[in-house]
Amino acid sequence: MSTQPNQLAPVPEAFRHLVPKHGKSPWQPSRTATARVPDPAPVPDTCPVCSGPVVIAHHTQIYRSGQTYGEWPWAYRCTDCDAMVGMHPFTSIPLGTLAGAELRRLRTDCKQPFNLLWKHHRMSRIDAYQALADHLGIPKAECHFGLFDADQCRAARAWAVQQLRTTATA
Ligand SMILES: [Zn+2]
Repeated sequence: MSTQPNQLAPVPEAFRHLVPKHGKSPWQPSRTATARVPDPAPVPDTCPVCSGPVVIAHHTQIYRSGQTYGEWPWAYRCTDCDAMVGMHPFTSIPLGTLAGAELRRLRTDCKQPFNLLWKHHRMSRIDAYQALADHLGIPKAECHFGLFDADQCRAARAWAVQQLRTTATA
């Protein structure tokens, strides 16, 4: 077999039937999408919850229904405890750190009121992240829901809900 001149890894045999016609997968990501991700988190090799091994998984292997969610149904998953994290669409860049079911739920829950802030043009998305980072006392580059622990999720949610109330009556 000849080696391709680019850096892309071959798609493992077991995943080939899951790669759609556009040909993109975590092994063959979009360069444009990859370049566009701000503050890319490192690709995990061990699980932060249990130190187990981390592999790439497709939603059809993760969810019992065999269903896929979103335009990029891939995740990093711990083979020992099932902690996982999704990837930025069309890249192999994790959305943050691997999390168990409870933390994943908290991260989703706190993102909802936060997204309302900028989607309803109460403030720009960049300003919203900066204000949340200031509130949490962390650098803006670390202010990503995929990196939050349970306490940060609760604090972020309370802040966003409060912001929605104040800006609504302003
Ligand atoms: Zn684990």
